[in-house]
Amino acid sequence: MRLVLPDEVLRIAARLRQAGHAAYLVGGAVRDALLGREPHDHDLATDAHPERVAALFPGARADDAAFGRVLVGGVDVLTLRRESQYKDRRRPSVVAFTRSVRADLARRDFTVNAMAVDLRAPETPEVPGESLIDPFGGVRDLEAGVLRTVGDPARRFAEDALRVLRAIRFRAELGLSYHPRLAEALRRAASDRLLADLSAERIRDELSRILVAIGCADALRDLVRYRLLQAVLPECMPMVGCEQFNPMHLYDVWEHSVRAVQAISPTLTLRWAALLHDVAKPACRTFERIPPERPGAPEQVRTHFYAHEVQGAEVARAVLRRLRYPEWLVARVSGLVRHHMFSYAPDTRAGSARRIVLALSMGGAFELLEVRHADRQASRWPSGYGRDGERFLTHLRAILDARERFTLRDLTIDGHDVMRTWGIAPGPAIGVALRAVHQLVLDEKLPNRREDLLRWLAEEGRGGAAAAGAAEVADPPQHVEASAPRGHARGS
Ligand code: ATP
Ligand code: MG
Repeated sequence: MRLVLPDEVLRIAARLRQAGHAAYLVGGAVRDALLGREPHDHDLATDAHPERVAALFPGARADDAAFGRVLVGGVDVLTLRRESQYKDRRRPSVVAFTRSVRADLARRDFTVNAMAVDLRAPETPEVPGESLIDPFGGVRDLEAGVLRTVGDPARRFAEDALRVLRAIRFRAELGLSYHPRLAEALRRAASDRLLADLSAERIRDELSRILVAIGCADALRDLVRYRLLQAVLPECMPMVGCEQFNPMHLYDVWEHSVRAVQAISPTLTLRWAALLHDVAKPACRTFERIPPERPGAPEQVRTHFYAHEVQGAEVARAVLRRLRYPEWLVARVSGLVRHHMFSYAPDTRAGSARRIVLALSMGGAFELLEVRHADRQASRWPSGYGRDGERFLTHLRAILDARERFTLRDLTIDGHDVMRTWGIAPGPAIGVALRAVHQLVLDEKLPNRREDLLRWLAEEGRGGAAAAGAAEVADPPQHVEASAPRGHARGS
């Protein structure tokens, strides 16, 4: 195998060897090299103790040294350690260091993750086959496409419940199938309530990886099959089996959403938006009886989900906050959910698109189109954005064009106005103020009228301008309707 390693990794390994220590590439990077995949990160293991590692690499961060982990640049250097007692299904209560790489590999979760490459080779990173250390048959399992724990799966899951989610994640990322004993342990995980004590952050990190993985749809279905959804996304439980009696829909709300996730680009924002866009449908479902077409024929039922996008935006916000996602992601996803039902009739005016841009930002407006596309893909609709989506897109493009043409110089005020209003001398503050005003006008929070801009300058003062430059849209408008915009940028 030819291992191509980043220079930083090679340098760290060389330094460890010069100092008389062993250096191994371990974990996911070995697995990914064997698969020809780009690794997510590179972990090195060494027999040197953490203090020694920190001493060898000035500037290294050893703050996690209690667990034998020293961050050298962007590379984790871990001191070899053996399996130890778990007191809380999370972190081992003690860390026992070892010189045995085999002992270190034995504590790892899956055979495919329990391989090491001894970086003994001289500087050319040509790694001979025999330096691959694979005591648990990781290569065999990779070749056979099997995900198998190192040791008894039930015991390994009980030690650290995160491994349950990691199993689902690795199957989704690597396209492996569960070893029968692992599948059996997964089936028991729910009744053993293993996931109950996991922290929101650890669950979040695995869910994030699952959602952008190639096999994400099957992973989501696995959460239901193994009754784990309740523990990780209880808010989604009512979606499962929630039937929609509507000619446009083929699946229940959950399966429709899973298919929407699969149909959308694998970015975290879009995947969450696709998963949660209909999250409030179960709570909003009403039934309409449709009288039989002729006497004696069965009565038909049709479902409606009035305002599910409004309630859904709230649920999405709650889910993502519970999982401690950053606030920008919370706002973007809940905004996409809020607006995913947008309609755009032929006579809808561009002001409607502007309102959506105002609520979601320009990038968010284009993401909304992707959500529409995925929503349609997952239903009986033909693919594409649909006529409403196409009309919305036309208006978005026009707004983009106009924005591009509308520069600082098109403002009805200039630097002299700033200096005069604020009583300041020439300097960088003037550019900052003008850019802030420009942004406000682009975002249609201010009309480009001289008297309005001068009043804004006078009222806001210098601090206000700086803050406004960085400000985000706080509250999306509650209704998107076709009405003329208030003030708007010249040229739009
Ligand atoms: P990726 O970097 O793509 O997420 P990875 O396999 O490198 O995959 P990491 O989370 O980076 O996963 O962990 C590095 C290695 O540490 C794993 O390959 C595995 O050997 C070990 N490991 C990580 N988490 C656990 C765990 N909860 N239990 C046992 N071993 C683990
Ligand atoms: Mg890794």
